[in-house]
Amino acid sequence: MDYEAYTSPSTELAIDLANLDPSEPAAIESFLAVHEEWLTPRTRLTLRPSERDELTTVAGMIRAVAAAEDEESVIERLNALLAKSTPHPRVTNHDGRLHVHYSRDRSTAVEQLTTTVAVGITLLVTAHGWKRLGICGASDCQDVFIDTSRNQTRRFCSGTCSSRSSVAAYRARQRGRPGGAQPPPWLG
Ligand SMILES: [Zn+2]
Ligand SMILES: [Zn+2]
Repeated sequence: MDYEAYTSPSTELAIDLANLDPSEPAAIESFLAVHEEWLTPRTRLTLRPSERDELTTVAGMIRAVAAAEDEESVIERLNALLAKSTPHPRVTNHDGRLHVHYSRDRSTAVEQLTTTVAVGITLLVTAHGWKRLGICGASDCQDVFIDTSRNQTRRFCSGTCSSRSSVAAYRARQRGRPGGAQPPPWLG
């Protein structure tokens, strides 16, 4: 199964937003700078404090969808996210290819982003199932990710987190074993 089958640019935008670290002061600015192409020209990129809070709330709501453990919670959390959006879908070819825009032009950056990510994540979940969204099991990561594995059994966002966690688990097992504190050289 290839990654493309499960993602669209708007779901990637949603995952990036969910993985923002709100405690990092520059995180929202750099997120907006990186994703500026999502916003209509002349959208104000300097957010007011209330707008920053709003975007952080939306990020938390996407994360909550990914963290849900049953379908009823997924429905409830997705609907809460959709209720925050202001959809105004229409077709455009402004960049040379036909595609859909979900948000109103000339609305605030937060309104445009909220609507786009709410619809994007909803389309992912309804087309491919809510279990495709996960939260990385590495204790020092916890990024939201899209599980593209055939059996939807991925526990980590990346190969890096997966191998780091198996090294940590190996070391923990060794520590619990008499005389077993030394990892083999390839894990050192
Ligand atoms: Zn466009
Ligand atoms: Zn991770």
